Amino acid sequence: MEIVPGIHQVDGVNGNCYIIVKDTLTIIDTGLPHNSAKIVNYITEILKRKPSDIKTIVLTHAHIDHTGNVYDLKKISNADVAIHEADADYLAGKKHPPLPKSLFAMIVKIMGLFFKVRSVEPDIQLKNGDTLAGMTCIHTPGHTPGSICLFDPSSQVMFVGDLLRFDGEKIEGAPQQFTVDAAEAQRSIKKIVARDFAIMLSGHGLPLKPDASSKVREYAESLSEQA
Ligand SMILES: [Zn+2]
Ligand SMILES: [Zn+2]
Repeated sequence: MEIVPGIHQVDGVNGNCYIIVKDTLTIIDTGLPHNSAKIVNYITEILKRKPSDIKTIVLTHAHIDHTGNVYDLKKISNADVAIHEADADYLAGKKHPPLPKSLFAMIVKIMGLFFKVRSVEPDIQLKNGDTLAGMTCIHTPGHTPGSICLFDPSSQVMFVGDLLRFDGEKIEGAPQQFTVDAAEAQRSIKKIVARDFAIMLSGHGLPLKPDASSKVREYAESLSEQA
């Protein structure tokens, strides 16, 4: 559904997948594996566009619930795949992502039995401050070394990946067992609230609006008080 004018979310892919609709299509995150048909159907049936209109697929980080369909989507669209340089080797299958806790290591092993993720060599390795598809890349490490947020000035949307989420009532960080460095993630939250943004769209959960940046600022201050 269209959640913000010009920004759609594909339901049911387990990990929020956003499509920015302009002359070309930009996809932000792709959900868990085996959902590429849902994303393609959305593009053809709802948007009445062609898969080849996908110009860019940006991944907020290299976890399987975000990268699961990037191989298939790239194959049918020939889109450029972009990820921060610090997560690029995980996507390319050259390194395994760091595992923060043994529980997480176990979950990853179990998921590996169900999901074979094909590695993808990224076309674009992002750095902090880069512009891509009209959005600014903000490096927000912690959850993974190469986690990013993307700020779209035209819609005033901040895409935050797994840095933050909103469940309809409260703002939270990603679960600690999935986060490599929680202290660094907290510093990254402080980094994004240096900007004003109206809407926060995250990797899991619901859109936070309006005045998203002031709500996130309040959350960041509550973290400082706990520290
Ligand atoms: Zn994640
Ligand atoms: Zn996630």
